[in-house]
Amino acid sequence: MKIALIAHDQKKDDMVTFTIAYKAILENHDLYATGTTGTRIMEATGLSITRFRSGPLGGDQQIGAMIANNDLDMVIFFRDPLTAQPHEPDVSALMRLSDVYDIPLATNMGTAEVLLKGLEQGFIDFRLIAERRLK
Ligand code: PGA
Repeated sequence: MKIALIAHDQKKDDMVTFTIAYKAILENHDLYATGTTGTRIMEATGLSITRFRSGPLGGDQQIGAMIANNDLDMVIFFRDPLTAQPHEPDVSALMRLSDVYDIPLATNMGTAEVLLKGLEQGFIDFRLIAERRLK
C-alpha cells in the first residue's frame, strides 16, 4: 500500500511519536510525505520515505495529484485545528480529493491508529466495495 504522511507544525512531534510506535506496520508499505514531515520521520525512525515539497510550497497538492492519479491508498494527515495555515486551500483540496476517490484519510492520531490496525489485518476493501456501486 502507498501511504502519505503529513503533519502541521504543531503536530509534528505527535507524528514522530506515532510513526515510532507503528514503525513495524509502516515499514511494510511505500511511504510518502511532505518535506519537513518526511525529514522528521526519517530522522526519528529510519523509515524510507519519498519526500515531496513542504506543504505550504505545494506538497499537499503533490499528494493530491497522487490521489487523482489513483496512485495512493491512504492519507494520515495530523492537522492543527487551532492554527491558521497559509495553505488552507491546499489542505481543503487534499481532503476533498480523498473523499472524491474514497481514500482513507485520518486527520488525528486516534483515527490513524484504527486505519493502520485495519490495514495490518487486511480490512481495507473499499475499492472492491466502491466497484459495486449502483450505477
Ligand atoms: P511540511 O508540510 O511537512 O513540509 O511541514 C506539511 C504541511 O504544513 O502541510
